[in-house]
Amino acid sequence: MKSPVAYVVWYGNWTGNSGVVLIEKFLAGIGSTSWWGMATQYTNGSNITFGQSTYDNYSQGTNLNQSMVFAIVTKAISSQALPFNENGIYFVLTSFDVNETEFCTSACGWHSYDLATKLIYSCIGNSELQCPQSCSVQQTSPNGNFGADAMASVIAHEAMEATTDPFMNAWFDSNGEENADKCAWTFGKLMRSSNGAYYNMIVGGVQFLIQQNWNLFIQNCSLF
Ligand SMILES: [Zn+2]
Repeated sequence: MKSPVAYVVWYGNWTGNSGVVLIEKFLAGIGSTSWWGMATQYTNGSNITFGQSTYDNYSQGTNLNQSMVFAIVTKAISSQALPFNENGIYFVLTSFDVNETEFCTSACGWHSYDLATKLIYSCIGNSELQCPQSCSVQQTSPNGNFGADAMASVIAHEAMEATTDPFMNAWFDSNGEENADKCAWTFGKLMRSSNGAYYNMIVGGVQFLIQQNWNLFIQNCSLF
């Protein structure tokens, strides 16, 4: 996708949660990292920027499925809280008390698109209470916000795939894996933050532990 723009719907209760600032710094900065530079190895892959965000106070309740996630996105657009942008990637980021069909059972996040509007959207949950073991690799997080720190890596994963395979017909391998799938839960060279947590990247001045991505040139997982 050319010049993707990330939008966020903070769904559920994010009041007073430092994750909002952490994730928005991450989305604003990830596009200028060498990690994101790998997107340009793929057809139409290009720099990602952060657009804007809005809040949704449980308009679809606490048990979501994919069509409800898309309803959250369309509500944000129709109410003009977020713009309609065919190059947008609309992230619905759910608070720890929200269930989603695939979340914690088959995935920590996913990306999809709407057939009619071609809008690209993604849902990523806060695993802190529901599945802390399966959606994070460390229980001490670099920024003292377990849920948001774990979400950052999944957001990077879904943003990369939504950019290089927006309509699920561009880049995937012979096993049907998209580029970030091939490197999920691998992190490359680690550094240690002052609280003992591991990180491998600084984005927007903040330490994050972000999964590697498939580097087409070296045909391996890499951080850059
Ligand atoms: Zn994936």
